[in-house]
Order: sequence, then structure tokens, then C-alpha cells
Amino acid sequence: MRTIIEPFRIKMTEPIHLISKAERLSALKKAHNNVFLLDADDCCIDLLTDSGTGAMSSQQWAALMLGDESYAGSRSWKKFERSVQEITGMKHVFPTHQGRAAEALMAQILVKDGDVIPNNSHFDTTRANIEFVGGNAVNLLCEKGMDLTSNESFKGDMDITRLKSLIEETGVEGIPFCMITVTNNTGGGQPVSMANIKAVKSLLQGYDIPLIIDSCRFAENAYFIRELEDGYADKSLLEIAREMFSYADAATMSAKKDGLANIGGFFVCQNDDWANEFRNMLILREGFPTYGGLAGRDLEILAVGFMEALEYDYQVYRHATIKYMGDFLEKKGIPHVKPVGGHAVFLDAREFLPHIPQLNYPGIGLVNTLYIEGGIRSVELGSVMFGHFDANDREIASPLELVRLAFPRRVYTQSHFDYMLEVIETVWQKRSEIRGYRITSQPDFLRHFTCYFEELV
Ligand SMILES: *Cc1c(COP(=O)(O)O)cnc(C)c1O
Repeated sequence: MRTIIEPFRIKMTEPIHLISKAERLSALKKAHNNVFLLDADDCCIDLLTDSGTGAMSSQQWAALMLGDESYAGSRSWKKFERSVQEITGMKHVFPTHQGRAAEALMAQILVKDGDVIPNNSHFDTTRANIEFVGGNAVNLLCEKGMDLTSNESFKGDMDITRLKSLIEETGVEGIPFCMITVTNNTGGGQPVSMANIKAVKSLLQGYDIPLIIDSCRFAENAYFIRELEDGYADKSLLEIAREMFSYADAATMSAKKDGLANIGGFFVCQNDDWANEFRNMLILREGFPTYGGLAGRDLEILAVGFMEALEYDYQVYRHATIKYMGDFLEKKGIPHVKPVGGHAVFLDAREFLPHIPQLNYPGIGLVNTLYIEGGIRSVELGSVMFGHFDANDREIASPLELVRLAFPRRVYTQSHFDYMLEVIETVWQKRSEIRGYRITSQPDFLRHFTCYFEELV
């Protein structure tokens, strides 16, 4: 088989620079060894997140110029609504400025104090918004999803048996809705199968509990279904996405992912009562329902972006780059989460650096070494991000110590990926020299963003 090529050529460039190693050491020191505090200009390859960091197509840039900035009922809104309805089949469409705005309004209108909201894995903003209004966000990831090294498909599936017991224990009145996140970001970008979405829906139907899809990576999930699930090989990604949404009563979306845009989101639903309440809250918090916190030009960009995310060639290329990285890591025996997900590669820092105890943050050791070695910015998903303190103020480690390399959409080329692999391999060879860290100052919440680290000697 021939090389899978990027299905685009480059019309506009943005320079990137690799500052010298001495400059990287000094930049990291100035940032108190926390890569969140680095200047972006000091990062040559920035893999901090795939959210809002993608490149737009010439069609999207052209659409931007057509933005109708009318306050109410703009042409751009009509295009946005048509595009979202074509994919989701939902009656009511509401634009929001980001995914978390859709989640916040959803939680505010649907979740009461003490309610339980099941999900395969709640994304951190989803969990925070549910907990903020007194809800209890419960993760019910299937068993195979817990095993980092098995190569099974659809490790993002929901555990149906545990969902059933949760409903029986809690009672239907305590569960206003159930969620499924596609793909499962928190669990390594693993996809959810159509069979699982269908089975969840049919279980919920028996109890009259609605299903809401967190659809940020709906197009990547549709691609996995086409490639891996029986019966979908001849379907278009649009048809598969439509089927996924057909089992849902509502969906939230961060268009910074599969909207191929730098900002945006939406909430969609079938239920008229939910729509009325959402509309009222949207006007209060985001804006008039035909722009919802976005400019007309953003709505134009998104109407095009949602459809481009469903182009088969684009998804083939995106998954090929991620698989290319996964195959290399496998060949070199570098520990990572398997199979590789839809938007990122996750290195297993605990296996990578077994000499560093978890509470000396092996993930931070790896993140910082990737930066010093090659100017690559990645992110720790381990005891700094997810660790917590018990009643006696003792720090409890996270079950996993991962380092995520998230890939912005349509941004980096094959040679960038080859460079990343060279850097990772060098770091792997030097792994015994990497040291742990301790935290010297931290805030009360979401400490990973702003805490200061000191390297242990
Ligand atoms: C990014 C993301 C969100 C939140 O969206 P924002 O646009 O960042 O507010 C919610 N759920 C998932 C799965 C996400 O990846």
C-alpha cells in the first residue's frame, strides 16, 4: 500500500521555531517547571490540546467572509442550523460559545441537587458543571476500557450491567438523563460502538430516561464505527453520525474539536419543553438564540467545518498519523495506551519511569523532558491533574500516570510527526536520568494549570 498523504496542500504558513536547549531550560525554569506557564512561542510543536487548535480550510476562510452579523435571524444562523440538523436530525438547535456553555445550561435546567448522572466517562468540564448544581457524576466505563494494554476495539463503551444496577439502586426519579461521550476523551480517545449506544438507549427506554450524547468527537467516532464494526463498511460517515444521534434525545458539542474551528459549540434536543427552558437560559447567559455567543462568521465556519469533519479522506489521514505514531511506539517497546485513540497518543509515564514514585509525578518528569529535549509541549494526566487529598490531608495518587500528546487537526505534517518520534525515542533512551518533582506552591482547585514544581535531586 502507498503512503497515505495529507489530503490538502498548504496555502498559508505560520512559522514555528525551535529555540536553543539553553533557552528551553531557562524558559521552563521561568515557568516554574509547569508547561502550562510557558509562552506558546517557546514551544516548537504544541500538543497541549486538540481543542480549538486546528487549521481551517480554504472553504471555511471563504465562508467567514460571508458572515451575516445581524442580531436576529441571520443568514449565517440558517446555514449553521441546517448543517447541524442534517447531521443530528434534532428539532431544536442552539449555538453556544463553547462546549462547557452548553453543559452549564443543560445542567442548570435538568439537574437537581442529589441527582445522579451516569456517563461512560465524564469530561472534566461536564463533571464540574453537574457537580456545581449538586448532581453526582458517575463513570461507568466498560471493563475492557480499564486495561491500558489490550488492543480490543471500542474501549469507550458503557458498562450496561452497571448502568442497570445504578438505575435500580438510585430509582428513575433520581436520574434525569444518562450521557455517553464519543469518543471517550478521558479514557484515551477510545471509541464507543453503535451496538453499545443502541443497547444503552434500549435499556434507558424501559425506564423512560433520556440519553444525551457529549458529541465533541462525533466524526472520529463515526470513522471508528465504519472501520471496526460489522455492517458499517459501506456507509458514509454522515449516515453513521446520523444513526448515532438518532438514539439520543439531546446532545452537547464543543465545535473546537470536530467542528474544525477555533471556537464554538451547540446544544440540540428533540424535546420542546427542554428547548423552551434552554432558550430562556441561553438568552440570559450567551445571547439571542440565533447567535448564542458566536459571531455570524463563526456560524458560517462551523456550518462548513462539521461537514468537512465527516469527509472520509480527512478521517483516513487523521487516523493514519495517529496509528503511525502508535506503530512506532509499539516497535520500540515504548509504553503507551493501546489501541491509539482518535485524537491523541497517551504515553504511560508509570511504565516509562518506574524509578519515580507516583507522588513525585513521573508524568511531569516526562512532559518536562520532552520539552527540554525537543521543544514539544504535552500534558500530564496523572497525579497532578487527578490526584486528591484524603480527610487527613494525605495526598492520594491517581490510578493512572499518563502523558497526552494531542494532535491539532490538519496542522502538523509527516515530518513533524517523524521529528516527534525522534524526540520521544531519545527521551526513552535517557529515561533513567529523568527525575521526579515536588510541588512548591498550588491553588485549591485545578492545580495543574498554575502550580509550581521543583525538580528533585
Ligand atoms: C472539550 C470537551 C468539552 C468542553 O468543551 P469546551 O469547548 O472546551 O468548553 C466537553 N466534553 C468533551 C468530551 C470535550 O472534549
